[in-house]
Amino acid sequence: MKKDVIIIGAGAAGLMCAAEAGKRGRSVLVLERSEKIGKKIRISGGGRCNFTNLSVHPDHYLSHNPHFCKSALARFTPRHFISLLDKHHIRYHEKEAGQLFCEKSSAAIIHMLEKECKGAGVEIWLNCRIAGIRRENAFLLSTSYGTAESDSLVVATGGLSYPDLGASDMGYRIARQFGLKVTPLEPGLVPLTLSAADAVIFRELSGISLDAVVNCNRRDFHGSILFTHRGLSGPGILQISSYWKKGEAISIDLLPQRDAYEILAGKKQSRIELHNLLSAYLPQRFARVWCERYAPSRPMVQYSEGKLKMIAHQLHHWEIVPEGTEGYRKAEVTLGGVDTEELSSKTMEAKKAPGLYFVGEVVDVTGQLGGYNLQWAWASGFVAGQYA
Ligand SMILES: Cc1cc2nc3c(=O)[nH]c(=O)nc-3n(C[C@H](O)[C@H](O)[C@H](O)COP(=O)(O)OP(=O)(O)OC[C@H]3O[C@@H](n4cnc5c(N)ncnc54)[C@H](O)[C@@H]3O)c2cc1C
Repeated sequence: MKKDVIIIGAGAAGLMCAAEAGKRGRSVLVLERSEKIGKKIRISGGGRCNFTNLSVHPDHYLSHNPHFCKSALARFTPRHFISLLDKHHIRYHEKEAGQLFCEKSSAAIIHMLEKECKGAGVEIWLNCRIAGIRRENAFLLSTSYGTAESDSLVVATGGLSYPDLGASDMGYRIARQFGLKVTPLEPGLVPLTLSAADAVIFRELSGISLDAVVNCNRRDFHGSILFTHRGLSGPGILQISSYWKKGEAISIDLLPQRDAYEILAGKKQSRIELHNLLSAYLPQRFARVWCERYAPSRPMVQYSEGKLKMIAHQLHHWEIVPEGTEGYRKAEVTLGGVDTEELSSKTMEAKKAPGLYFVGEVVDVTGQLGGYNLQWAWASGFVAGQYA
C-alpha cells in the first residue's frame, strides 16, 4: 500500500491533519491502534469537549521554547475551528473565561472530523499495530495490516496520559529513532497527592471544594480546589500542577478577593469561635479541620492583635508541600515532548528528517486548562496538513 501521507494516530491533531492534507489532493492513510477514533476527544471536557478558548495566547502554553507555538496558533485560530463547527451545524456554548463546549456531546466533533476526512478521501485503519518504521526512499511501516509506504509521515500519537485510551510512547520513540531530542516528560494538569501526615488530617475533607487562588513559581490561578482521598484536585490545582516541581510548596489563598484581617478584626471583641466565624466564608468542615491544624480555635476576643495578623496571613498564604502527583493515569496532558528546536514552527516538519512531521501533544507544547490543548492539536495538525 503506497500513499502520499501516512499519519500515526487518529486523535485531534491527526484527524485535522489528515482532512487538510486530503483536501490538497494528497492520498492519506491514518493508522490508529485503538478500535475507535478520537477517544480522548470523546471524554474531554467531561464528555462535552472544551474544544477551544476565545482568548488563545502563547502565554497559555508551556514549552522550552515559548515562541514555537505562535506561528501555528496564528494561522489556525479559534475562529477557524468555530467556522468548521458552524459548517456542520454543531451547537456550542461559552462557559466561564471564554471556554467553548459542545452543547450536547463531544461525539459531534468526532463525527465532524470523520466527515471531513471521508470527504477528503482519507483512509483509516483501526486496531492497527505498528511493528517498525524504516526509511529508504520513502517511509516504510510494518503494520498488522501489512507494509504501508509513504513520502510523508506525520506522528500524531499524543501524550502518555490515560493509557487505557490508547496512549503510547511510540511518538517519542520515532523521534529518537530519527535522531531528534525529546525533552523530559512529566504528567501535567494532574491532581496532587499529600504526604501521609497531611493526608491523615485532610482525608475527612474528601469531596469538599472551595474557591481559591493557587500560587507556585510566580504563577497563580483562580479556581476551585477539591479535596480527594489522596490529596488535592479541581481546576485551580490542575492548573498549578503543570508549574509545580517535586519538593516545592504551593501557596493557597483561601479568601481570594477578601481581606482576612478585616474579617477577623471586625469580630475582635466577640466571643464567636474562630472556626465558626470562618464557616461564614469557607465550608464548615474545612474551617474546623483547618483551625485544628493551624490556629486552634478560641473565642475571637482571646486572640492578640499579632495572632490575628498571623492567622490572616496564613489564610491568604496557606502553604502545602505536595508529596507528588497522581501520575499519567489521572493527568490530562504530558508536559514536554519532541524538542521544538528540532521542528519548523511553520510546518511542524523535522529539520533533520525531511518528510517527517510531529503534531499535537507529542510535541513539547502543553496548554493550560481551558481548551488550549485541543486548540494546539487543531492548529498544529492544520499547519502540517498544508505541507505533508
Ligand atoms: C480526561 C481528559 C480530559 C481532557 N479535556 C480536555 C478539554 O476539555 N479541552 C482540551 O483542550 N484538552 C483536553 N484534554 C487534553 C486533550 O484531550 C489532548 O491534549 C488532545 O487530545 C491531544 O491531541 P492529540 O491528537 O495530540 O493526541 P490524542 O488525542 O491523544 O490522539 C493520539 C492518538 O494516537 C493514537 N496512538 C497512540 N499511540 C499509537 C500507536 N503506537 N499506533 C497507532 N496509534 C497510536 C491514540 O490511540 C490516539 O487515538 C483532556 C485530556 C484528558 C485525558
